[in-house]
Amino acid sequence: MIGFSTYRAAALGLFLLVVIGLAGGAGWLAYSAALSQLAARGQADLSLASDRLVGQLQRFRQVAVLMADHPQMVNLAKGQGAATQASDVLLTAADKTGAVEILLASTNGMVLASSTPQTITPLKGHPHYERAMRGALGTAHARISGTNRRAFYFAAPILEGEKALGAVVVAVDMEAIEESDWRGDPHAVFFTDADNVIFVANRSELVLRSRTQTGGFGPDSVRMFNGHKVWSLNSGPYIPQQALHLVQPLPIIGMTGETLLDTAPAQRLAWLQAATVAALLLAFGAILFWVTERRRALATQLQIEAKAKSELETRVNERTQELRQAQAELVQAGKLSALGQMSAGISHELNQPLMAIRSFAENAETFLERGKIDVAGKNLARISELARRMGRIISNFRAFAKQESEPMSDVDIVAVVEAVLEMSEARFLADKVTLTWQTPTAPVFVRGGEVRLQQVLVNLISNAIDAMEGSSERCIEIAIKADRDKAHLRVRDTGPGIESPEKIFDPYYTTKAVGKADGLGLGLSISYGLVQSFGGDIRGRNHPEGGAVFTVELARTVMEKAA
Ligand code: ADP
Repeated sequence: MIGFSTYRAAALGLFLLVVIGLAGGAGWLAYSAALSQLAARGQADLSLASDRLVGQLQRFRQVAVLMADHPQMVNLAKGQGAATQASDVLLTAADKTGAVEILLASTNGMVLASSTPQTITPLKGHPHYERAMRGALGTAHARISGTNRRAFYFAAPILEGEKALGAVVVAVDMEAIEESDWRGDPHAVFFTDADNVIFVANRSELVLRSRTQTGGFGPDSVRMFNGHKVWSLNSGPYIPQQALHLVQPLPIIGMTGETLLDTAPAQRLAWLQAATVAALLLAFGAILFWVTERRRALATQLQIEAKAKSELETRVNERTQELRQAQAELVQAGKLSALGQMSAGISHELNQPLMAIRSFAENAETFLERGKIDVAGKNLARISELARRMGRIISNFRAFAKQESEPMSDVDIVAVVEAVLEMSEARFLADKVTLTWQTPTAPVFVRGGEVRLQQVLVNLISNAIDAMEGSSERCIEIAIKADRDKAHLRVRDTGPGIESPEKIFDPYYTTKAVGKADGLGLGLSISYGLVQSFGGDIRGRNHPEGGAVFTVELARTVMEKAA
């Protein structure tokens, strides 16, 4: 029954789809949350790196501005003072600040004094110098000619009123700044200039690479993920392969700060989250599956039990039916046996009036011959009375022998006694038993079956007569006593009494000789069953003055109470 049906396979498939969907969703959410977090942190880091770079460079800007105010420089620019002394001042300043070179340039671009013996930069036409000559602070960045080194330049004008007399130029070595500051950073940070060339970077392989030219530095592909740009790269071991790309413009130095943040940890987190959700869902699914399996098994069990129960009920019903049938047959058998016992009496009972009829008829004949018509008429009246009596006896027996079909009705117990006495009269006579019976003036109605009650009484009387077989005094007393709810039918005899009163209602209990027609031991047990079926009670005990007393107790009916 618990086979792996297609329905369950489909349910399992659907469940797995749901698990995959939910786990994927959880992974996506985790990844996008981690990316957002990474972006926020990366943006802050990039800001910090930019600030640091700008701050570093600003120091040299101050140097340029301060040196432009230095009296030695001002004098030299005006054409006074010695160049060597000014060069000494510039050398000291360069040594103290870490600048590559500090020089003083004249209005025509000539170097008047410098911290280094040979000047490394021709100045005329350079943007920072030209800007200083116009009275403003100039900046520029370039590769130092003849070397692989990069320099950032500040040019501060020496002013006399509005007019520039010359400019102090400070050259900063970018590599020194990179090395001193952020070579060890976990994330790649680089600064791209207006020409899209990476000028500053904390990864040496990125330095001076173009961001736009073919062969330059850039992503193989870019994926947008929930508003974040994720680059796929293949740029050596120090650049992540999947990286979040962030940008920050730095107009103050004319560059753009960029950073690449490794997304691998975010990806790991997302996978972990997805796996956790999947594991939880699978565990939950397993529990659910187990519970439904248990319920299914339980339901099957209950079904089996219910089926077994209903089968049992059917069998019990069948058995009850059979038992009822057997009981009915037994009752009928008991009755027939009682009839058998009475058969001798019946023939006697019918023979007596028959003999009387014969003699009355013969006498009537004689009286008619003699012309005594009135006496003959009296004889004929006697004959018809006797014939009626015989008819009544026969109808009593017929009714008794018939199987009673009606279940229960209101029965006059007085009439029952009368009918039974009529049927048993012959036995009373044959066994010389005297009867004490006062017919009550009113009928006493009880719940029961007429013939079955007759059967009970026939049995009690024939037991009493049997018991008194060896007694000198043979008397049966029958009485009906009625109170508010109940009627009591009492049969007392003058026999030897009951041997074992507790056994008399057991089936097959008998003290009578086996083989004798009346020794079956079923009479009282059948009577007991009949009285019980009327909701009544039958008891047998010994009378203190000798003999046995049987009492049948039955419920009186409403009809009788109303009467
Ligand atoms: P059976 O008459 O075939 O023996 P019963 O069930 O009618 O079967 O009676 C069972 C036994 O009860 C009798 O054998 C007898 O021992 C005892 N019994 C019944 N009625 C009387 C009675 N009036 N006096 C003494 N014993 C009785």
